[in-house]
Parts: sequence; C-alpha cells; structure tokens
Amino acid sequence: MPVSAAASAREILVRLHDVMASRNPAQSKLNQVVQIIGEAIGSEVCSIYLLREGVLELFATRGLAEEAVHVTKLALGEGLVGTIAEDVEVLNLDEAASHPDFAYKPETGEDRFHSFAGVPIIRRERAVGVLAVQHSEPRKYADVEIEALQTVAMVLSELIANAGLIDAAGAAGARPQMTASIRLSGQKLVEGMGSGFAVFHQPRIVIEHTVAEDIDAERRRVYAAFDKMREQIDRMAREAEFGVAGEHVEVIETYKMFAYDEGWARRINEAIDSGLTAEAAIERVQQRTRQRMRQIDDPLLADRMHDLEDLSNRLLRIVSGQMGTAAQMGLRQDTILIARNLGPAELLEYDRRRLKGVILEEGSLTAHVIIVARAMGLPVLGRVRDVRRQIADGDHLLLDVNEGSVLVRPTLAMEEAFDAKLSLRQKRRAAFAALRDVPPVTKDGHRITLMVNAGLRDDAAALDTTGADGIGLFRTEFQFLVSATLPQRERQQRLYRDVMEAAGDRPVVFRTIDIGGDKALPYLNVEAGDEENPAMGWRALRLALEREGLMKAQARALLEAGAGRTLHVMFPMVSEAWEFDEAKALFEAQRVWLNGRGRRLPLEIRYGAMLEVPALAEQLDLILPNVDFLSIGTNDLTQFLFAADRANPKLAERYDWLSPSILRFLRRVVEPAREAGVRVGVCGEMGGRPLEAMALIGLGFDRLSITPAAVGPVKAMIRSLDRAGIAQEMARLLAKPVRDMRGALGAWAATNGVELA
Ligand code: PEP
Ligand code: MG
Repeated sequence: MPVSAAASAREILVRLHDVMASRNPAQSKLNQVVQIIGEAIGSEVCSIYLLREGVLELFATRGLAEEAVHVTKLALGEGLVGTIAEDVEVLNLDEAASHPDFAYKPETGEDRFHSFAGVPIIRRERAVGVLAVQHSEPRKYADVEIEALQTVAMVLSELIANAGLIDAAGAAGARPQMTASIRLSGQKLVEGMGSGFAVFHQPRIVIEHTVAEDIDAERRRVYAAFDKMREQIDRMAREAEFGVAGEHVEVIETYKMFAYDEGWARRINEAIDSGLTAEAAIERVQQRTRQRMRQIDDPLLADRMHDLEDLSNRLLRIVSGQMGTAAQMGLRQDTILIARNLGPAELLEYDRRRLKGVILEEGSLTAHVIIVARAMGLPVLGRVRDVRRQIADGDHLLLDVNEGSVLVRPTLAMEEAFDAKLSLRQKRRAAFAALRDVPPVTKDGHRITLMVNAGLRDDAAALDTTGADGIGLFRTEFQFLVSATLPQRERQQRLYRDVMEAAGDRPVVFRTIDIGGDKALPYLNVEAGDEENPAMGWRALRLALEREGLMKAQARALLEAGAGRTLHVMFPMVSEAWEFDEAKALFEAQRVWLNGRGRRLPLEIRYGAMLEVPALAEQLDLILPNVDFLSIGTNDLTQFLFAADRANPKLAERYDWLSPSILRFLRRVVEPAREAGVRVGVCGEMGGRPLEAMALIGLGFDRLSITPAAVGPVKAMIRSLDRAGIAQEMARLLAKPVRDMRGALGAWAATNGVELA
C-alpha cells in the first residue's frame, strides 16, 4: 500500500485522467477504472455500483464474478453497499459478514473475501453510487487508503455524470431525507402562502473538472482565491458594523476565523497534491468535514459547520469565477428564494413577478429587508434551520407562512390540501377586498384613519386596491437603496410627483431619508464606516442635518413635486425638539429660495416628526406646539425602549409589542398629543396586526399607517370592535398588567366578537 493518501490518489488520478480523456464507451472506461484502482491499491476486489432507477447496480468489477455485472442489484439501505449510499457514509470493516446490514449475493462469489471498504460516489451532496474494495485477509483499511478511495470516488462522479450513467431522479433517491416530504418550521416574518421551486440566492457551484492538469497552477489558483476571500471577509467585517452586509458580526467573526485557518488551507493544498483541481480539492475537503460533523451531535458545532459551508462555497465561487447571485442568472417562474440573510437592496434586485416567497435562515420581523418584502407582497419565513441540508435546488416547496412552515417535496395529497387552503385564503382576501369601499368605523361609530406604508413607485397602486385613506409613511430612502449611486434631485422629484399623482386627493406623508442602521448606503456612509453601533449612530435626521446638501436636494425635490398641493413632510429619528425645528427651518429656507425664483410651490406644507426615540417623549411640551402631526415608529421605538436590536434574530421573539412597557409608553404620548390638538398615529409594523391594532385603538389612537396587505384584516377588526369597550379593557389591563397581555387581549377579543384574521 502506498505511504500517503496523496501519493496513492495521485498515481491513480494520473492514470484515470487518460482513461477519461479517451473516446472509449463509458462501460469500457469503468472496466478500466476498476482495474487501475485495484492494481494501484493492491486490492483483490474493486467494484463500482451505480444508482439506476433508484437501485444500486453492479456496473464494473475486478475480482467478483463477471456474471454478476448488471445482475447484482441492491436497494437503498440494502446490504453494505445500499447502506453506504443511503447514509452517504464510509464503511470500513475487517469482517464484512458480521456487519448487521451485510447481505450475501451468491452470484458475485464474494464469500472468499472478508475485509470490505466502501465509499459513496457523491454528486451534489447525494450518493450516486459506491466504490468498494475487498480482501480475503481480514483487516481494516488504513485512513490513507480510505482517503485515496474518496478522492478517486470524486473523480468517478465526474466521469459517470459526463457519461450520462446516472439519472438525476435516481440520484435524488440516494438520500431519503432529500427525497421524502418534510415540513420545516420557522418564524412568521411576512404572512402569506406561495408555491414554487427552490432557488438559492447563492447557487451551489457545479464542479466540471476534478483531475488537475497542472498541480502548481491549481495551487496558485487556490492561493489567489484565498487572498481574495480574505479581502472580502475583512471588508464585510468593516461593513457589518454598519449593517451593509445584512449579516451578523458574530457570523463574520467566524468566517474570519475560518478564512485565516491554516489547517483548512493546508488540507485543500494536500487534496490538490493528490491530483485534484482547485474546485475539486475545496469540495473534497468540505465533504470530509461534512462527514466528520455528521458524527458529532452538537448544535453549536453544527452552526459553525454551516459557516464553514458558506465560506467553502464562497471560495468555490471565487476560484471558479461563478460569482453572481441567482438574481443575475435569470430566474424561473415561481421561485422561492432561499438565503441565509439578505440586505434590502439585494432583495430588490430580483424580478418581483417571478418570486413566490422567501426563506431565510436568519431574519427578524422589523429588519428592513422584511419591510421591503412586505412592500413587495412576498411571504417570508425566517429562522429556518439547516436549509441547505434539507432542501435541494429545484425542490418543489409549499410555503405557508401563516402556519410558520414550508413543505418540502410535497406529496400530491399535500398539494391538494395546500391548494384548498390557498383558495380559501383567496376567498378571504376577496372578502377583505370587498371591504375596500366600506369605511373603517368601529361598532360604536368612530372613524379610524387607515393609511398604508409605501416606498416603491408601484406601491401607490395599493391605495386603490385597499381603499386606504392615504400613504401614512412613504420611505423615501428605498429609492436610494435600489440605486447604485445617489439619486439626483430630478429623479427624486419625478418619483415624488408620480406617487402624489397616483394618490390623487389622498395625502402622502413623505419621510425624509432614513439612512443608517440596516439601511446603509455604500456611496453615502463612508464617514460612518467604523461605527460600533449603527442603529444608534449617525443615521436618519442626524446624518441629514449634517449633510445639508443631501437634505436640501430632497427638500427641493419634494417642494417642487408638491406644487399646487398640500405637502406632508415627516422627519425620522427626531430625538430632541430642536432637531425638528432645524429640519423644518431648512425646508422653509428652500421654500423661500424657490419662491424667490418664481417656482410653483405647495399650497400648504404640513410638518411632522416621527417619535421613535424614547427621549422625545420627554420633550413633548417643546415639540407639540411646533408640529402638525406626530407618527410613532414602533419598530425603532421598541428596539430603543428594550435596548434590543431590531435586526438581531436572537432577540426577534423576546419582547412583545403588547408588553405593558410599550403600551404604557404609547399611552403616555397619545394623551398629551390629543390634548394639544396634534394628530398622532402609529406607522410601525405593530399597527398592521389586528390584535395590536385593537390595543392601539384602545389606547386612543385613531390613525394607523400599515402594510397594504393588512388593511383588509385590520378594517374587519375595526368594524367588529366596540371602541369604548376596548378603551375600558386597556385601562383596566394597564392599571394592573398581567404577564400574558397577548393572551388577555386575545381572550377579550374572542368574548367580544372581535374579528381577528
Ligand atoms: C419605525 O421605526 O417604526 C418606522 C416606521 O420606520 P422604519 O421601520 O423605516 O425605521
Ligand atoms: Mg424607524
């Protein structure tokens, strides 16, 4: 036996290379392959079993009876060969017959042989066959021998795929967990249902060539790829602090650890030494790691494995030059997009018409990518674990975020049940749509103003489909997020004018850009690049007031777009009253300037502030006399009130919007505002949930700006609600809160016939 795995594998690979390059038929190539391997590692038997029509068939052998070729067949899980394929695991036995899965096949004449080693032939993480060696002498094979077999199996997988010896459907059969229907659960980030096919945001690289022509060249390719990957990770680490990447600092720290791990780089180099191409070497090392990790049942390590898997894919993309995301590759119809996490701009790169839903391994309810997805009407299921191992590219998926789950590879019966539910949901939506023209009035006659949140040009259409009273929050930064460069004033103006025109008489509240936190712009945030805590950093109005040019351009765009109308302007993240005064003064100065040049101007400008930083609640007496309206941004307010990062998935479910702290805080704001005659509403995601909206109305709010999809359900809730009743219940609950406020409010709604979709 050769002394090292690399030397042994290399010798075989050099010979295999010639076989593969020849024009012989596939069967004759396989016959040569078993001879070469058998000779090279001095084994009495070397056999190749391939999966055909879901069954493992002996395709070539040296040492077993020739008559058994294409005759001996094993089902998945049957015998040692079937077990190897099913588990995608190696078996190394000194006495094959004593293994519980051993199945004797008399036609092979294998009873003379005692020791047995078999490795799966893997393609796209699934076993498509088995390479096995046998000896008459009972002995365990050395690790180096197993290594050599695995390397050879990798090359074989290329050969048999190119020869068309395996069918894709058969390959899928090799791993029951990848063929059986399964249900994965996750967190409901954007409710809805969708049926489609799995597409990974970062597609898996298919390795075309496994045997190296020039080992030094392959080594250089890997060095260069490592350098590039390290550069990328270092940049991500810098940007993560400002949230650009949408990834978590913790994850990036782990990436960094692996990226600089000499052991990993060394193992890849060793695999190249054994004769593999750079791509095949990276994948070979990854296969080995996967295999080791499967034997360790530790969730923490599994997470780290996941990170290494990501990084290994990144390295593969770099080395193979296949860098694009699925957005650049032409999506099929009915795509369900799968990603670890996405930034808002990354999601906006996709063609909305082809997307049916999104599955994220991370994600949290108020992260901006979720707000964008909601605006796009895309259901999103978050925090789904271990997706890559459970879902394969192209798998049929039934996404039911209302249930918090996704069905992978559904059966016909599941599809039928899903379709029935979908049509029921469509009927319910149709019922909500029928509420379009009925006003949101409570049972005791209070008219609630229901507006929608928007940010994209097409969102204005939601006004007509929902019958909402206007746009209560237009997130102007979305235009900045989807642009590669700063949108010039004319472009801004065109967007604002189009939106106002689409809205007609209904008001549109334009919020000036709220950049920062998880909405960082690479072309704007250079100065803020090293912030430790961007959500609390130089963002929104803080940035805009100091970058006067930016704010002035936006002011002029809004003032000119609003010519002849009432313009509503709202400032984000106002933390002290003077910030509002300064922002308003800046707008007013622009108005005077434009007026001086004879430009047509808005008939009236109404200025409002967002209350989303708790400090502002202590300055209500200072700000209320100067504002025309207040709008409470509960997304940010909650993160600041609880000191809980809104984008951190670990905190995603920790605090409830119905907690007494939030509800009492909101009451503390709504009461003085009403006394001062200032309109106050809620524009965070909270208001779009019927139970939360009920609580808000109970606190005295009568203006909500919510996601368009929520207008129907919230309107139905309002029309079944007695406002005086809920006001009394809220007063009672807030005087003496119970731990489970959600439960208590739900129970009240049920006994009082409040319709909660
Ligand atoms: C909020 O913070 O509640 C809000 C509406 O603004 P955004 O989600 O855009 O930060
Ligand atoms: Mg906010």
